[in-house]
Amino acid sequence: MGNPTGFINIKRKDSYSIPPKDRIKNFDEFHETLPEEERLQQASRCMDCGVPFCQSGMTLGGMTSGCPLNNLIPEWNDSLYKGNYEEAYKRLIKTNNFPEFTSRVCPALCEKSCTLGENDTPVASKENALTIIEKAYELGLACAKPPKIRNNINVAIIGSGPSGLAAADELNKSGYNVTVYDRNKRLGGLLMNGIPNMKLDKNVITRKIDILKEEGINFVTNANVGKDVKLKTLLSKYDKVILAIGSTKPRDINVKGRKGKDIYFAVDFLTDVNDKYLDNTLDLKKNMVNNKSVVIIGGGDTGNDCVGTCIRLGAKEVTQLEMLPKPPLERIESNPWPQWPKVFKTDYGQEEAIEVFGKDPRIFKTTVEEFIRNDSGDLTGIRTIKLDFDENHKLVKAPGTEKNILCDIVIISAGFIGPEEYLLKDGKIEIFKDHHATNNKKIYTTGDSRMGQSLVVKAIADGREVAHRIIEEII
Ligand code: FAD
Repeated sequence: MGNPTGFINIKRKDSYSIPPKDRIKNFDEFHETLPEEERLQQASRCMDCGVPFCQSGMTLGGMTSGCPLNNLIPEWNDSLYKGNYEEAYKRLIKTNNFPEFTSRVCPALCEKSCTLGENDTPVASKENALTIIEKAYELGLACAKPPKIRNNINVAIIGSGPSGLAAADELNKSGYNVTVYDRNKRLGGLLMNGIPNMKLDKNVITRKIDILKEEGINFVTNANVGKDVKLKTLLSKYDKVILAIGSTKPRDINVKGRKGKDIYFAVDFLTDVNDKYLDNTLDLKKNMVNNKSVVIIGGGDTGNDCVGTCIRLGAKEVTQLEMLPKPPLERIESNPWPQWPKVFKTDYGQEEAIEVFGKDPRIFKTTVEEFIRNDSGDLTGIRTIKLDFDENHKLVKAPGTEKNILCDIVIISAGFIGPEEYLLKDGKIEIFKDHHATNNKKIYTTGDSRMGQSLVVKAIADGREVAHRIIEEII
């Protein structure tokens, strides 16, 4: 293995990020990579330890620890350290169809379980992966490689998010004839529509999809299966059908005043902004949140994306409500390494809010009792109430803690409760969650539609799994 002293001499160095006050002026990605020599040094911090938890992807304490794709992290870190980009790229894509996506948006489960992280800073594997894949494009290594032979088996995939794309890629590479249908005008699922451009530049998605097209995958956009395309028609044309339709039904907050305008679901809001951004019709001065006070209900990653987006759109004030208590700053005893650390983090949107408004936008242990409207039905604020744990460790409302927060707009970012039902009804389909099957032998399922709301890396892993399952069944 490469550098014999690795992490002993070399300290972790993260890529430079454009400071919040500058990056909020546009929707561009804001991480810049380290100079090549420094990046190679960073790769050498990986010591290929005896039990590399980084690549394990196992469930510990109810959460995934290590990479769900079982990425061969120590191997490609070593190739990167040696400057052998071709080898590093080959080992990286052996387990990961889309490192260009994960190296931008993954919460880096690998780094949270890195052995070095137990008593030092972990290896910067996510940024190392970003360097490998971007260098592979630069060197012409990441290019179309269509399969040399094809079988006569036709597969339709409904949904072009990361799970549908991963299944399509795996099946296509094995010679299957694959067609991906999506109801949207743009391909990529939540990568394209939900995740804001500053986190994942949309050209990165089209760059990869263009390669998939060149490799022979067919894509049909504006095709809403279950509405304008009947599932029956697909079943008569294709040998196998995979549902990769995501978990897109949002959880609502059904309290007094919910009906009426100025309350949006997070994904509708983010999709609208992404669409306008890509259509070149997004006006940073004239838009629905400019100069408005916004409350975002939900303290998770999607809520954070809404914070960053509202700031770029010129919101006057942004508040984010979170039901759960503020997590501890450090791991507690019951959450040891290499478990996913349940610790307080300040994400990019919150960092930007602190810069612009002078305070963290989050209010913890708080929920909404009422959406307050005036006589004309306009939203004027929300009534909140604090939450506390009862003796059964259940969060309950604490009477007497009610407060009003003035606002013009509310964005609900309270998670998702499953796939939309119209397609399932159209085909009388029942999804079996514990494997990729449904009650119809020809129909499979993958990604968030099977697992519930998840992560890009898990969606890719699940897409690979369903494809391998089909291949094994047919062989
Ligand atoms: P999706 O990406 O949801 O794709 C489903 C596709 O199916 C969509 O394109 C949809 O149009 C299509 N579809 C649905 N029904 C039909 C139909 N009837 N006919 C045709 N097409 C249909 N994860 C991370 O790891 N990192 C992040 O930073 C991150 N940020 C996120 C930000 C937001 C705002 C959201 C909402 C999620 C985020 N996630 C993130 C989660 C991640 O995006 C999802 O887990 C992942 O995209 C799920 O992939 P999927 O392929 O299963 O489904």
